[in-house]
Amino acid sequence: MMNIRNIAIIAHVDHGKTTLVDKILHTARVFRDNQDTGDLIMDSNDLERERGITIFSKNAAVIYNDVKINVIDTPGHSDFGGEVERVLKMADGVILLVDAFEGPMPQTRFVLQKALQLNLKPIVVINKVDKPNCRPDEVHDAVFELFFNLDATEEQLDFPTFYGSGKNGWFNDSLTEREDILPLMDGILKYVPEPKVNEGPLQMQITSLDYSSFLGRIAVGKVTRGSIKESQPIALVQTDGSIKKSRVKELYVFEGMGKRKVTEVVAGDLCAVVGLEDFNIGDTICDAETPEALPVISVDEPTMSML
Ligand code: GDP
Repeated sequence: MMNIRNIAIIAHVDHGKTTLVDKILHTARVFRDNQDTGDLIMDSNDLERERGITIFSKNAAVIYNDVKINVIDTPGHSDFGGEVERVLKMADGVILLVDAFEGPMPQTRFVLQKALQLNLKPIVVINKVDKPNCRPDEVHDAVFELFFNLDATEEQLDFPTFYGSGKNGWFNDSLTEREDILPLMDGILKYVPEPKVNEGPLQMQITSLDYSSFLGRIAVGKVTRGSIKESQPIALVQTDGSIKKSRVKELYVFEGMGKRKVTEVVAGDLCAVVGLEDFNIGDTICDAETPEALPVISVDEPTMSML
C-alpha cells in the first residue's frame, strides 16, 4: 500500500493558501498509477463539463517521492467554524500559513486553536517574504506567542518553520541552504505523521458533504479502519444511534484537483462515496455486519471572544 500523508493548510484569508496549493500541485507528480487500466483521470473542470455537474469538495492530492499527499480543503472564513473542525478531523498534520507582513490575524488564531485542540502538530510557513517591508522574524515571534497563548503543548510549541514565497515557489528552513518548493514538500513527509489506521471491518466517518446534480449527495471522509469497496453493502450508523442499511455505488479518491473513480479505498486514505441515501455529517459508514459508530464530532461554533 502506498504511503499517505493527510494535511490541511490553514490560514487567514489572503495569506496565500490558494497560491500555495496551486504551487504544490504543479510541483508534485499527479497520481497516475492506473493509467493503463482505462481509469479516467480528469480534473474537476473536465468532469464538470462531461457530466454537467458542480463537482465535489476542493480537496486535492499529489504524489511526491512515492508518497500520496492529500491536501484537505479548509473553509476560508470563520463563519464556517464547525466545518473547520470537521475537516481537520481528516488531517494528520497542518500547515499554518502566515503572511510575513501582516502576521497572525483573527482567522489564524481561530483555525490554529482548532488544530491544537485536535492534537495536531503544525508546520509553520511564513509566507510572502518576497514582499518589501515584510518582517518574518517578528511574525515568527508573534506566531510563537500565539501558540503559547493558545496553550500549545511543548511538542506543538517546538514547531518547524519554513520561510518563503508560495507565489514564487521557494521556501527554506533554518537547516538547509536550498531555496525551492522541495524543502516544504520534504518537510511535509518528515513532520506529518502517517495516518493512524486500525485493523478490522470498515469504519469511515463522514466529515464533509458534496453535491452533484448527476451523482446526488456525496459523502466525504477518511477511512480509518478496514477498507471500502464498490458495491459493498454497508451499515450507516447515525449520530442518534439509529442504523440504516445502504450500499456503496461508486467510490472516488482525490487526485490532482479532481477525483478518480476506484474500486476500493483502504484505511488512511480520503474517499468520496456515491450512492448512499439520507446521510449526514458525523454518521459512520460501517461494514454491514459490524455497525460500530465513531465518536460524534463536537461542533463548537466560534464566538466573538475567540476572534
Ligand atoms: P488565500 O485567500 O489564502 O487563498 O490567498 P491567495 O492565494 O488567493 O493569495 C492572496 C493574494 O496574495 C493574491 O493576490 C496572491 O497573488 C498574493 N500572494 C500569494 N502568495 C504570495 C507570495 O508568496 N508573495 C506575494 N508577494 N504575494 C502572494
